[in-house]
Amino acid sequence: MELQFFNTFERRIMPFHAIQPGKVGMYTCGPTVYNFAHIGNFRAYTFEDVLRRTLEYFGYEVRQVMNLTDVDDKTIRDSRAAKLPLREFTAKYKQAFFEDIKTLNIEPAEVYPAATDHIKQMIALIQILMDKGIAYQAEDKCIYFSIAKFPDYGKLARIDRENQRAGVRINTDEYAKDAVADFALWKAWDEADGDVFWESPWGKGRPGWHIECSAMSSEYLGSSFDIHTGGVDNMFPHHEDEIAQSEAATGKKWVNYWLHCEHLMLDGEKMSKSLGNFYTLRDLQGKGWSGREIRWVLIGAHYRKKLNFTFDALAQARETLNKFGELFDRMRSITAAGDGSEIFSNIAERKEQFKNAMADDLNTAAALAALFELSRSANKLADEGALSQAGAQAVLAAFRDFDRVLGALAVDEVRTAEAFPEDVVSLAEARSAARKAKNFAESDRLRAEIGKLGYAIEDAPGGVYKLKKL
Ligand code: AMP
Ligand code: ZN
Repeated sequence: MELQFFNTFERRIMPFHAIQPGKVGMYTCGPTVYNFAHIGNFRAYTFEDVLRRTLEYFGYEVRQVMNLTDVDDKTIRDSRAAKLPLREFTAKYKQAFFEDIKTLNIEPAEVYPAATDHIKQMIALIQILMDKGIAYQAEDKCIYFSIAKFPDYGKLARIDRENQRAGVRINTDEYAKDAVADFALWKAWDEADGDVFWESPWGKGRPGWHIECSAMSSEYLGSSFDIHTGGVDNMFPHHEDEIAQSEAATGKKWVNYWLHCEHLMLDGEKMSKSLGNFYTLRDLQGKGWSGREIRWVLIGAHYRKKLNFTFDALAQARETLNKFGELFDRMRSITAAGDGSEIFSNIAERKEQFKNAMADDLNTAAALAALFELSRSANKLADEGALSQAGAQAVLAAFRDFDRVLGALAVDEVRTAEAFPEDVVSLAEARSAARKAKNFAESDRLRAEIGKLGYAIEDAPGGVYKLKKL
């Protein structure tokens, strides 16, 4: 099946065609590094990771660029409140972000350009817009983009241009959807900026938020590229403004496919810093949840559907991943002879099912069904003693293959055996010997003894047993 994505720009599912065969240029709006990212943000980053991994699964070489917004209204405001130089303040959260994406097993992007390292490129881009008469300097010394000069303004978010009020200007980085107005490309310095400013042909100041993505994407991906992503809340004004800046400067179509993920919700509301209803990744780790479990929750629902975050979902993720872990352990323990043919056709079907589901606009929920079905049939064959070592190894290989996209199964992770008390282990060994000798009365008595000590014992084929704390 051919890869196809829902292109927000056209509001329809479209087959994916890369500009350069076999290669994908992808720009993903990254974090504003003024705080720890919350798991709503990570829904966007894990969605982008699954997209990236799926493209790789389909044989593309991906060049992903993710910006780090280390200067904007919020970073300046909070660094001043913390009485720290901007660079020192944002460095802490940049580092935290990289630690967090590692925890979530998010594949690193090829480039993480920081806004403050690209002021020169932003000034050059603003200069082009000035030279073309699309940007202008207002009385407040800020440089604005004149949306009246760009008739396509509003084409991504499909906003009503009737609402446009001539001459209305906005110089905050984020603004409401009904505030269609000229937006700031360069903000003249004012006292609230403290020592944060750069020299420019228009006086000292700093860039607006939107210009960084236009400048840095062309620096690292060229003037047109394949995919641009973000959360739905980024569509307006941020992505709309990015399109206006880039296309007004080059006169070319900037991005071919726009993909936006829906929000992670908490109790029916968007998880967000401003509402205060959020968990950071670190909050959840502190409660004992692992990166894999959190990732599993975030990738399990289709990216274009709202996802309500609950602790029940995390508990379910834990159970599911443990079941897979047990399956992998079981597959590893199978040593029977045979050519593996008993499971091969099933594996081929499930791989096809998985691939088709991912090709269909990243339908992760349908893709996971393939894993559950393969797990069921592998366990069933093993129960019947009808799975050979070759077959079991092929099952493991299939899961490794799925995990290239999912990044959550840790197929080869050796689960550290729980440390059981010595008396429990010796009772379990004695029971195992009794079973081998077909002394089932003794075996049952020993099982009861183990139970009294608060443990349960489960048997797997081949004399393998497993202890569990009750
Ligand atoms: P920000 O740091 O606010 O620019 O957000 C970084 C990324 O996270 C953007 O792509 C946002 O669209 C995305 N985002 C923010 N909140 C949520 C949420 N509750 N669910 C999904 N994505 C979100
Ligand atoms: Zn952006």
